[in-house]
Amino acid sequence: MPDALYPQLPSVDRLLHDVTVAPLVARYGQRLTADAARTLLAQARAHIAAHRALPEWTSNWSRALQQTLAERSASKLKPVFNLTGVVLHTNLGRAQLADDAIGAVARVMRAPVTLEYNLDEAQRGHRDDTVAALLREITGAEACCIVNNNAAAVLLMFAALADGKEAIASRGELIEIGGAFRIPDVMRQAGCTLVEVGTTNRTHLADYRNAITERTALLVKVHTSNYRIEGFTSAVSEAELVTLGRETGVPVVSDLGSGALIDMSAYGLPAETMPQQILADGVDLVSFSGDKLLGGPQAGIIVGRADAIARLQKHPLKRALRCDKITLAALEATLRLYLRSDQLPLLLPTLRYLTRPLSDIAQAVERLLPECRNTYGASFNIDSTPCLSQIGSGALPMNTLPSQALTFVPRDGRGRTLEALASHWHAQPKPILGRIADNRLWLDLRCLDDESELLAALQAAGTRNLSLPTIEEQNKKPFAR
Ligand SMILES: *Cc1c(COP(=O)(O)O)cnc(C)c1O
Repeated sequence: MPDALYPQLPSVDRLLHDVTVAPLVARYGQRLTADAARTLLAQARAHIAAHRALPEWTSNWSRALQQTLAERSASKLKPVFNLTGVVLHTNLGRAQLADDAIGAVARVMRAPVTLEYNLDEAQRGHRDDTVAALLREITGAEACCIVNNNAAAVLLMFAALADGKEAIASRGELIEIGGAFRIPDVMRQAGCTLVEVGTTNRTHLADYRNAITERTALLVKVHTSNYRIEGFTSAVSEAELVTLGRETGVPVVSDLGSGALIDMSAYGLPAETMPQQILADGVDLVSFSGDKLLGGPQAGIIVGRADAIARLQKHPLKRALRCDKITLAALEATLRLYLRSDQLPLLLPTLRYLTRPLSDIAQAVERLLPECRNTYGASFNIDSTPCLSQIGSGALPMNTLPSQALTFVPRDGRGRTLEALASHWHAQPKPILGRIADNRLWLDLRCLDDESELLAALQAAGTRNLSLPTIEEQNKKPFAR
């Protein structure tokens, strides 16, 4: 009789005063523990109503409470295994910080710091001075301005230098990158009028020259990082724009996007324009991201001529877009690594992943293969398969790096089985993120730091019940993404 089962459930009050629950109250507090107890009691009542029996877990209330509380208190920012093959994955937080940067962040979080305090002159300093000397040394710039991200940097450049005026940009460079960042919209927000010149595939210096009027405040160059126009094309270089800008007294700014501070081709990677090259061409300001190829924290970095930077620093938007001590500490520590450039691939995770030798990745795959076959071999054919990693974060999608993956092909040949495996891995305490393509689930090991940690996670996931859909279910249920 179910009615006889309900009185067997404890009250919230009795649970909270149970000796086995006391440590949970001490750790999570009275309120959260009571909430968890009420949730579990409701679940138990529903179970009794449906099954005329107590749920099994009611034999150990403190363990059930512990699980509920741990799940509810876990951070929503979960560390994951990034085996997607995209090194700088925007949805996974882009660059992983170097140990030095992590240490620097922890130090400044624990104590008051000289963020805007100049000890030598016992007067107010400027927060961007934290990294100014380093950026001057690395890029040859006169000055710098640091904001929240590169989108903010572009907005600030337009607002401070061209508000109420016109900015000239090539039609072939009016980019959209993820998250509604479109150059024409950013210009409108900054209060400046976009003057489009040229055509989608070809823009000439004369196009810029003919568009210059007394209202022109800026010549703008935008790095087309995430696409390429091929065939009958022509674009105007920064150096040419600078010549025109000098003749006509109009400043030139460049949104470089990724902005590698070292020559990527020296590491066998696709060449990427460096801010120091653009500055050497004479551009007034160049902006780039802190968390793309640079390998640091999210930030927008603007370097260039002192007078132009001073106008950005004085603009009210700078106050709204400025970085805190945490970002500045991480950026400073990351930039400092660039002074030890021979050791950079060892010290900077982004560069370490990008330069990881194929043989290294393939060996890791070989080592994990037998264990994966043990755990998943009944339902999947598992192999070592060549694949291509992507740099990510707006780097050209066609700029790929040869890599090696563990691939899982369902023995039943069904796509839903593959999606069930992917979902099962997503549900693990440290989710394992791969990529589904060509009827396989790919785990690209390029960005794997700790093989034994992944192995343990894969084995633990294999023993938890992976509920593969039955054939009827596969035919009936639409798969929810
Ligand atoms: C990535 C990128 C941006 C935006 O940078 P965030 O740091 O993501 O704000 C702007 N312009 C270009 C060309 C980019 O590649």
